Amino acid sequence: MSYKLLIDGALVDGASDIEVVNPASGIAFANAPRADEQQAQTAVAAAKRAFPGWAALGFAQRRGYLDALAEAIRVRIDDFARILTQEQGKPLKEARQEVLGAIAALAYYAPFELEPRVLRDTADERIIEQRYPLGVVAAITPWNYPLLLLMVKLAPALITGNTVIAKPAPTTPLTTLLLGEVAAEILPPGVFQTLVDRNDLGALLSGHPDVAHVSFTGSTPTGKKVLGSAADTLKRFTLELGGNDAAIILDDADVAKVAPRIFSGATTNAGQICLAVKRVYAPHAMMDALCTELARLAGEAVVGDGLEQGTTIGPIQNRAQFEKVLGFIEDARAHGTIVAGGEALPGDGYFIAPTIVRDLPDDARLVREEQFGPVLPVLGYDDLDDAIRRANDSDYGLGGTVWTSNVDRGIAVASRIESGTVWVNKHLELPFDVPFGGAKQSGIGRQQGIEGMEDFTQPRIVNVALG
Ligand code: NAD
Repeated sequence: MSYKLLIDGALVDGASDIEVVNPASGIAFANAPRADEQQAQTAVAAAKRAFPGWAALGFAQRRGYLDALAEAIRVRIDDFARILTQEQGKPLKEARQEVLGAIAALAYYAPFELEPRVLRDTADERIIEQRYPLGVVAAITPWNYPLLLLMVKLAPALITGNTVIAKPAPTTPLTTLLLGEVAAEILPPGVFQTLVDRNDLGALLSGHPDVAHVSFTGSTPTGKKVLGSAADTLKRFTLELGGNDAAIILDDADVAKVAPRIFSGATTNAGQICLAVKRVYAPHAMMDALCTELARLAGEAVVGDGLEQGTTIGPIQNRAQFEKVLGFIEDARAHGTIVAGGEALPGDGYFIAPTIVRDLPDDARLVREEQFGPVLPVLGYDDLDDAIRRANDSDYGLGGTVWTSNVDRGIAVASRIESGTVWVNKHLELPFDVPFGGAKQSGIGRQQGIEGMEDFTQPRIVNVALG
């Protein structure tokens, strides 16, 4: 299969090519077109030209385009899922869920209209808040959920009347390119475009004077660069960044019930989820039972090629991250006790056995930093206040979970966690109507929900004297 960039309505070659590696084999399986600076400039100019016409269509007409795009993705769902597994590594069933999630995001946003809000309506005056689209949006995405994380930007940005340039991570460009191919038949030229780079065009887009909004999902260090580059033009941005989410297990929780959910929260997508469980705090009295159960689950997991039936955990997405996660394991081995996993699997793929570590000090790398891999530290506590303090002792504040048999206690603890989302007795549920975003260094702004649409618009107050 050959892939093309979508620029100004045309499917075109890149200035050069990059190889895309299947992380299950470590071998390149496709070439992707790589855009150069000139192509990026062409894309920005085309998006700017397309904007007034797209914005003028209004919600009802744009809805038709979004519905058509959703249908066209549905027709190619098997292609999307297979390519996603090959480029990203996740099991095919989860890849399919991601594609279905992308279709659902389009279906959720397509019927939306942002109505003007009447702030005051008296005999003397009427004050209304209207919202209008911003212009060209750069949607910059990471490699863990390349299609879904793009769609939660693309759908609300398009329906509110913006034009969008998608720039995926260099190691997972193919599903974005396929989306461009599908969209080329549906959307007017310049409304949606795709650019693939080698980590060199994100800064061009985020600093570009004709890009009005940068919707960025990725690591906190890169998010800081985006924030810096937006300063010159005071452009708008949404930053969805890294996390180091704590799961706090209360002393009344049932280990047999909680352990499988913690394990899945830490190892789904091989732990490469911003909102994965990245640290567990459990009462000391529960540590042995919990670690035994987590180790059993780790032993039962089927780690392998996502295209093979029965695989429950795929590879780490790229070699650099694979080596980084192995570095976390080596550091944990030196400072704690590994009770399951603790190694890469033999072969050329980037496979890491799900790893459970206990007895680490609070300043261990695996506790302080974001591992973004299937390696979970389990830490003991005696005093719940102390566990909450330790959970909050992080620059990150993306998510978190509380596990208990007493919902009221769970809510009370959740209300003390400094994060954008805290789940009680559930995890990784992100309905499109619920806003999502980070606290502290995990991000700025919100995606999803009405707030996620408003982020792509400028409020305008119209203040009218009557009579
Ligand atoms: P990354 O920050 O390395 O890259 C993300 C994107 O930014 C890529 O497309 C990359 O090419 C681009 N980029 C690189 N340099 C840039 C620059 N100077 N300006 C603009 N863009 C630039 O992140 P990653 O390693 O691909 O993804 C993993 C990280 O993403 C983790 O920290 C994870 O927690 C985070 N993440 C956050 C969320 C969320 O919603 N909060 C969701 C998924 C992943």
